[in-house]
Amino acid sequence: MDASHQTGRDILFFASVARMDAARTIATGEVEPETASRGTPVAADDAAGVMPKAPDELGRVTPMMEQYIEIKAANPDCLLFYRMGDFYELFFDDAETASRALGIMLTKRGKHLGRDIPMCGVPIERADEYLHRLIALGHRVAVCEQLEDPAEARKRGAKSVVRRDVVRLVTPGTLTEDSLLDAKRNNYLLALARSRASSGEDRFALGWIDISTGEFRVAECDRASLAAEIARIEPGEILVSDALYADTELAPFVRSLPALTPLTRDVFDGATAERRLASFFGVATTAAFGTFSRLELAAAAAAVTYVERTQLGKRPPLSVPAREAAGATLQIDQATRGNLELVRTLSGERRGSLLAAIDRTVTAAGSRLLAQRLAAPLTDPAEIAHRLDAVAAFAEDSALRNEVRGRLKAVPDLARALSRIVVGRGGPRDLAAIRDGIFASGEFAARLAALGALPHELAQAVATLRQPDAAVAAELQRALAEELPAFRRDGGFVRAVYEPALDEARALRDESRRVIAALQVRYAETTGIRALKIRHNNVLGYFVDVSAQHGEKLLAAPLNATFIHRQTTAGQVRFTTTELGELEAKIANAADRALALELEIFDRLATSVAAGSAAIKEAANALALLDVTTALAALAVERDYTRPEVDGSLAFAISGGRHPVVEQALIASGGPFVANDCDLSPPDDAVAGRIWLITGPNMAGKSTFLRQNALIAVLAQMGSFVPAKAAHIGTVDRLFSRVGAADDLARGHSTFMVEMVETAAILNQAGERALVILDEIGRGTATFDGLSIAWATIEHLHEKNRCRALFATHFHEMTALAAKLPRLHNATMRVKEWQGDVVFLHEVIAGAADRSYGIQVAKLAGLPPSVIERAKIVLAQIEAEDRTSPARRLIDDLPLFAAARPATTLPRDSALAALGALHPDEMSPREALEALYVLKAQLAKGDS
Ligand code: ADP
Ligand code: MG
Repeated sequence: MDASHQTGRDILFFASVARMDAARTIATGEVEPETASRGTPVAADDAAGVMPKAPDELGRVTPMMEQYIEIKAANPDCLLFYRMGDFYELFFDDAETASRALGIMLTKRGKHLGRDIPMCGVPIERADEYLHRLIALGHRVAVCEQLEDPAEARKRGAKSVVRRDVVRLVTPGTLTEDSLLDAKRNNYLLALARSRASSGEDRFALGWIDISTGEFRVAECDRASLAAEIARIEPGEILVSDALYADTELAPFVRSLPALTPLTRDVFDGATAERRLASFFGVATTAAFGTFSRLELAAAAAAVTYVERTQLGKRPPLSVPAREAAGATLQIDQATRGNLELVRTLSGERRGSLLAAIDRTVTAAGSRLLAQRLAAPLTDPAEIAHRLDAVAAFAEDSALRNEVRGRLKAVPDLARALSRIVVGRGGPRDLAAIRDGIFASGEFAARLAALGALPHELAQAVATLRQPDAAVAAELQRALAEELPAFRRDGGFVRAVYEPALDEARALRDESRRVIAALQVRYAETTGIRALKIRHNNVLGYFVDVSAQHGEKLLAAPLNATFIHRQTTAGQVRFTTTELGELEAKIANAADRALALELEIFDRLATSVAAGSAAIKEAANALALLDVTTALAALAVERDYTRPEVDGSLAFAISGGRHPVVEQALIASGGPFVANDCDLSPPDDAVAGRIWLITGPNMAGKSTFLRQNALIAVLAQMGSFVPAKAAHIGTVDRLFSRVGAADDLARGHSTFMVEMVETAAILNQAGERALVILDEIGRGTATFDGLSIAWATIEHLHEKNRCRALFATHFHEMTALAAKLPRLHNATMRVKEWQGDVVFLHEVIAGAADRSYGIQVAKLAGLPPSVIERAKIVLAQIEAEDRTSPARRLIDDLPLFAAARPATTLPRDSALAALGALHPDEMSPREALEALYVLKAQLAKGDS
């Protein structure tokens, strides 16, 4: 409300609200002299004299500010959410930062050392929403709660401050609330430890935890695969030591990582790591967890130490760390992940990604596990077979699959509910989720066990699903009401008849409410005011409410002896009476007692759940596995996928392969998808796989073909059926995919440079088990440079890397390479020319494209006819010179890797060749002049 609009009555209203507010604050928290009312114009405060002259104007610090400053000093890098009654308040710089970030009003509250204290606040019921936004903006938040009842503080004297302390640090990697998390994604906290090697390569260890689900893993890797490992995990927050953070050599890489939290060295200390880890799990030694390297222990200990720090000692139900052996998963670097759009598209969306295309899960936990499997396909054929066996079992039995999926739909997110309960942040609905999850586990175990012989993975799941204690679920069933509130503090979640003392307190509370109703009738009669009502609000509690007109009557004798004025608002006058006050106290006592009893029951139930948390968590995993397995089976049936044959060979034979994402998009828009074969298996007499060189015009389907084969490998190794008639894949250990691109000046860097850096990584890293996809490498530079680079790249892949590869290019000259490289196979996209237009058949056939049909494509795109005609003439001329193309001669330069011919000879040769192809007698003067300029330009390029 604008102060200039205030009438005398408004001021009166504000004054009384201010007083009420002050009363509320006293009731809920503070008894300090600087108590003010929030959101109330200062003028009104002053007018009402609500705000006493604060002693701090003399430069002294109030006890509350003293407390605030002390707590803030202990958490300097966090915004401090300081609990006052129903609000979290922020002060000073924090208030300014938060009000800017959240768009909430900045007010002030008293003075500190003679200056106004900036303040802003968020109501507790909306705290999650504001936390979410602050975390998303990269802030960290320390949540400071009241640790005692304000009444306790008052007992120590009128000026004492309610005890408060930080109960939790909220950081991007340590979230547990559903409202702060994406249900379908894990949110990992990753600790990165390094051991410096005096000679040779540094080693790195990663320890990562999802505290919302309890997952905990560790792995070790070298510098070369570090980026790929981090890309796979996609952590929400990364912990590094100060030393690593400051390391100049690693700085560019480390600083480019998202949500980085540098910590002091002691957190990564190897000497104390074992002990810290053991103490977190309450065991004497970590030996039972498996064998870890010293470095892995350091990373794991850093992660749990940070969990303890941020949770202030509360221990989420973490699994013991599981070690991931090096090479157990298919390595896919960041660029390849992006490129293949595995879990999100290049524009960052889930829609359009492989994950979205194959996700048929019906639970959030299933969706998370599917994303995990997709991010980390396996390399061991036996393990892959276990997964495929389970999928096959459900693919074959539709009735069973549909039944299981139908039942899974009702299964809650057990893992996240459990984490919240164990760290003391759970609500009644989380208990209900645990109850339902345990019941469901038992039912699934029984249903599956009844089937008899089960594939290994499912048999294991059944055993796990039997573990949780059904008695805990039965107790929850007895205790919890049908309708549950969101928060413990709301009360009303315990069933009637569960606990006699609770029933008693509730009866008392409800009885008093009936007495109030009777009181209203009596007051209406004795005053003769029929419209008299007894109402309740949070500020006044119970009050007698009459219109202004009737108010006069109650304010005058004799009724004013009974009715005590409390508040006048526009239109209403409010009163209390001694009787009403006493009743209110009784109701409040009964209600308080009921709530206290409910909270006790809650704690008891939570404790019994926490005691069985390990078994419940494992069951949650098994339910997720069941969801993923049946979902993949449903996908296979729906989209006609087949079981791939995965083994330790170097085979890569796909027949009738399709692109899982493009296919679905095409079908949705009515078009058919053309299936294609691909065979990169070693030829009969060879020990290394093949390279396919795919030529063909733009829009013919080259990129689609390349990617579909990479995606089929990913799907097969994650344990899914694949979109093909048949697939035989010798496990791939590293997958690379690169696309050549024109310079992207808007992004301020040369994508050609990026393309080359990435190509270099492939040529340096790909071994014989790798699968390499190169799409138009060399497109980002001048034709001859590009051709030369593409050329040399193929030679290197064939001779040095000896890996399976697919290479798409518009440089037709390269098809000549097949004559010299025995494992290189030419393939092309079939096109049909029809009445001068080009028709794409999307069919991959053996052979080389005879030309690129660029002009036909340009015509399809609607270039003006005059431009098309002119382009045809120019093309004819250039093709004439191409007959003596230097590419032919390069073929004769093999054996490979002999001293390379200086690059400058290429343009010079081609200029000479072009000159030779000219027919001066047939040229107009103008064409002759143009030809001269072209030649000159080619020479200039050779000299540069
Ligand atoms: P290129 O890389 O040769 O320029 P793309 O792979 O980008 O071609 O494919 C161009 C378009 O052709 C795709 O967007 C898709 O709609 C269609 N397409 C590609 N492959 C197929 C196929 N096998 N069957 C049907 N349509 C296809
Ligand atoms: Mg393409």
